[in-house]
Amino acid sequence: MPAHVLILGGTAEARRLAAGLAARTGVRVTTSLAGRVARPGAVAGEVRIGGFGGAEGLADWLRAHHVDALVDATHPFAEAITANAARAAAATGVPAVVLRRPGWRPGPGDRWYDVPSLGGAAAALPGLGRRVFLSTGRLGLAAFAHLTDLHFVVRSVEPPGPPMPPSTELVLARGPFTVAEETELLRTRRIEVLVTKDSGGEATAAKLTAARELGLPVVVVRRPPLPQGVTVVADVAGVLEWLGLSGSLEAT
Ligand code: NAP
Repeated sequence: MPAHVLILGGTAEARRLAAGLAARTGVRVTTSLAGRVARPGAVAGEVRIGGFGGAEGLADWLRAHHVDALVDATHPFAEAITANAARAAAATGVPAVVLRRPGWRPGPGDRWYDVPSLGGAAAALPGLGRRVFLSTGRLGLAAFAHLTDLHFVVRSVEPPGPPMPPSTELVLARGPFTVAEETELLRTRRIEVLVTKDSGGEATAAKLTAARELGLPVVVVRRPPLPQGVTVVADVAGVLEWLGLSGSLEAT
């Protein structure tokens, strides 16, 4: 049984895993948060906040804090920290696993346009609609700032900073949202096209159902690739199995 588990967090799965591990005797669990959100939700176990200083800094931290297992439970689009985690694990020999929830796949009735990046989404938008619901987070708005003819409705937990498109309406809210709430938002804002990252999971999927029911096109930014050779599991139960701990925490 690993004595000290470091979870790279920032996701609901990371929080669930921390809660489950913190409840076990003999396991010390530390969750690392980037510090982007001013008021992160409660996290069980120990919490550290802020960057490590690249892969080398993370490797130093693993050594200094005697980490026995590293779980990268960051968001699928947190590309830099995932690369750093893979490098730090290789440099230190600390066993590591990536918890990556499966991506979304279109179903019957969906009008999805796959793009490889936020820039690709910006290039696709003018042909798809003038009123855009942008649910890609507050940190990527610069990619759309040149689209002066389009109106954007941007939803995020905390207010974004510039640059952003000149015609931008902010909706400050923290999910999860129901299909009824998403439908209401799309209808009242007269949205013609939705842009989302392929985050996967249930918590933010209601907007996709709402878009399907309203017949709206959805621009889906596909995930960056994972580093070569990493071990990947799809859920919290997979991490527990990898850690050699029995029982499921999915109900917690
Ligand atoms: P990123 O681009 O991969 O990371 C940039 C830098 O932030 C990293 O090099 C690292 O700094 C620091 N960092 C990131 N995650 C960290 C963590 N869990 N603990 C300590 N340092 C961390 O990451 P991002 O896309 O900005 O995301 C930041 C955090 O927000 C992640 O923890 C992620 O899980 C969460 N999040 C991201 C998204 C998204 O769409 N990207 C959505 C929801 C939640 P150093 O190099 O100095 O160590």
